[in-house]
Order: sequence, then C-alpha cells, then structure tokens
Amino acid sequence: MKFEELKLIPEIQDAIREMGYIDLTPIQEQTLPHILEGRDLLGQAETGSGKTAACALPMIQMVDPTQNAIQALIIVPTRELALQYVGEIAKIAKYTQVAPFAIYGGYSMEIQKAKLDHGVHILVATPGRLIDFLYNTPLTLSNVRTLVLDEADEMLKMGFIDDIRFIVSCIVHEHQTLLFSATMPEKVAQLASQFLKDPVHIKLNRDQVAPQSLIHTFRYVEPRDRLRTLMSYLDNGDVRQAIIFCNSRHGGEKLMDSLRKEYRSIEFIHGGLEQSTRTSIFRRFRNKDIQLMIATDIAGRGLDFSHVSHVINYDFPLFKENYTHRTGRAGRMGREGVALSLVTHRDIRTLESVVRSNKIEPVWIGEAPNLGQGQSRSSSSRRGRSRSGNSRRGRRPASRAASKPV
Ligand code: ADP
Ligand code: MG
Repeated sequence: MKFEELKLIPEIQDAIREMGYIDLTPIQEQTLPHILEGRDLLGQAETGSGKTAACALPMIQMVDPTQNAIQALIIVPTRELALQYVGEIAKIAKYTQVAPFAIYGGYSMEIQKAKLDHGVHILVATPGRLIDFLYNTPLTLSNVRTLVLDEADEMLKMGFIDDIRFIVSCIVHEHQTLLFSATMPEKVAQLASQFLKDPVHIKLNRDQVAPQSLIHTFRYVEPRDRLRTLMSYLDNGDVRQAIIFCNSRHGGEKLMDSLRKEYRSIEFIHGGLEQSTRTSIFRRFRNKDIQLMIATDIAGRGLDFSHVSHVINYDFPLFKENYTHRTGRAGRMGREGVALSLVTHRDIRTLESVVRSNKIEPVWIGEAPNLGQGQSRSSSSRRGRSRSGNSRRGRRPASRAASKPV
C-alpha cells in the first residue's frame, strides 16, 4: 500500500514524500488502522522493518497541537535511541505544529526543562531521566493518551520493569499502550499482558525472524585464535563498515588496545563514556567517518546505521535475543548485510538456540562444530566460502600495513 492512499493530513503526506517513503512496510500497513482506532497493540517485526514510523505516523496524526500538553510518551532503553526516535518523529512532523522532544541522561536537565516548559506534545524518554523529571519538576503525564514501549521486551526486563511500572502509575488517564520489538520471549510476553487491554497482536516475524537480506556466517575458533581470525577477516577487503560486539567493557577495551595499532578508523563505544563522546562516536559512525566500531550491547538495539555492511560478534552473545538485535544493525530495510560470529566451544549451546529460534541457516567459514542434527550446513562448502566475502569479488583488499583506514 502506498502512503498517498492513506487518509493522512497533507502536512504529513508532504513530509513522508520528502523522506522518500512511498510504500508502507508490512508492519506499518498492518498496525496503522489499529493504532488510529485507539487499540492497544503488540507489534513484532524484524529489525530494520520500519517500526519507528509505524508508531510515529499515527501518533503525529492523533496528537492535537492546540492542546499544550504531552499527549504521547515513548520510552526507549538508550539515549542514542531516544535521539534517533525523536529525529524520525521530527522529520515526519516537520510541516505540522506538533512538537516532539527527547529527554535522556547525560545531558543538562535545565536545558531539557526549558524546552519542556515551552510546550511538547510527543515526548521520547529514557526511563531514568523521565523519573528524575517526575520527581523533581512539575512535569506531568496526566494528558498522555498513548504510551509506547519501543524495544518492549528490553523495557520489561528486570533492570527496567520497576521504572516502567512507576511511569505507568503516573499516567492517570486511561490510555492506549503500544509495544514494539523484534523479539518477545514468552516469559516477557506474559509480563507484557499486564500492561495491555484487549490488545491486537501483530507478529510478522513468525517464520522469517531475521531480515532476509542478512547472511549469517559463523567461524568456529579456539579462544586463543579469535584475535588473529578477526584481523584476517577485517583484512579481506569486503568489510566496508562494521560493528564489532563484545560482551563486556573490559573485553572491548582489550580488543580496542589490540586493534587500534593496526586500524586507524576505529572507536570503542560503551556505557562508561561521557555522553558527548558517545554522541560524537555515533554521529561519526553514522556519517561513515569511522569504519570500525567496537561496541558493547548499548549499541545492540534499535540503532539505524544504513552503511553497516558487517556485524561481527567477537564475543558470542550470551542470549539469543541479543544475537537478533546485534546482527539486526546490518541488513536493514532490504539492504545486504553480513553477520559473522566467532564461536568457541563455550558458545555452542547458545548458538544452537539462536539457530533454532531465529530459523537461520548458518553458513560456516571453515569447519563447522558438531551441532544438533540437521542444524548446520557443511563447512566451507557451497555458500560458505563464497558468501564469506574472501575477496571473491576482486575488490581491492585493504592492507593493514597501509596508513589508510582498512
Ligand atoms: P525498526 O525499528 O523496525 O528496526 P526503523 O524504524 O529503524 O526499523 O527503520 C529502518 C529504516 O527504514 C530507517 O532508516 C527508516 O528511515 C526507514 N524506513 C521506515 N519506513 C520506511 C518506508 N515506508 N519506506 C522506506 N524506508 C522506510
Ligand atoms: Mg526500532
């Protein structure tokens, strides 16, 4: 379905056209009527399928800009995601009178407060900063009619659930609740139902869990060979831009120390950095000024990097949902992407659960380990070698010795 066929206000139509959106994505098409009807909803669709606009569009249409109050509240797990989310809303709302704004930690509360006092209709927030505002300022959620939890399964996990309960308790009015995510483990789905009234459940990634344009390659290695394996992979010349995930800040630091001598265009992003540094790294990475970004899972969810060609799990993720979200930073909106995961004997169980639940066909570079029956393709065979990108297309291989970034 095309956006022009929808009964959206002309101001939104103009902005959408300017953004180059022509057809609705499936999640947008299927959720829009229910959201506009005021229903509660749980929307599940693969990473990079346009869940932000699925939510932002009807919200902008529903908000009354003549009423000076926060009418829609969107909670997201990270600061960068708050910025990205509000950016998408701002683009769609560009020609309307609707004012979106984001509050998140690591940035002056005074400045954020001044903007809030000025009038905001759609507020995007990370939970910690919102709660700070609720305790310490006159900010009120009493006019909120729509509450959104983006990356909903993350927001309902232990670290966040109490914050969410508190925030929901501050929304005194009856309101619509929308939950979006690419993943929703069964246990969390049960929790989610406490927040939803007679919800519509749209699940578009039942059979096709990961984006089709993403190739999942794996390499079985001895733990001590991981660094060497990673470096030779980075040198194969096909990696235009990559995120390299580590499970801990300490591990990321060690990897950064080893790689920074060889690669110039590399940064390490983690939660311990000053917010200004974090924002700057993300901005430069998004602008392609940085080629390699080592990251902890703070970069694992929601962020939309259109140039990323590879996601590399240097450390295999500890949970299968993290695999989905990390690798989902590539292969977005139909673009080609490659995921490479280094697998050691310790990771086999998680790997098996990733393969099973994500319904992916693993492509092994080199020897495959012995997985449960029927779950692995043969080693370095067929697609294995060719898809791994070992200079097959004859691109100029990047040389580590060269002074240019690889
Ligand atoms: P998700 O939240 O499902 O992971 P995003 O909302 O981040 O995905 O969207 C992924 C990318 O697709 C973004 O760059 C966004 O601008 C783009 N996008 C969203 N909707 C459309 C559309 N209808 N047509 C073209 N591009 C779109
Ligand atoms: Mg998203």
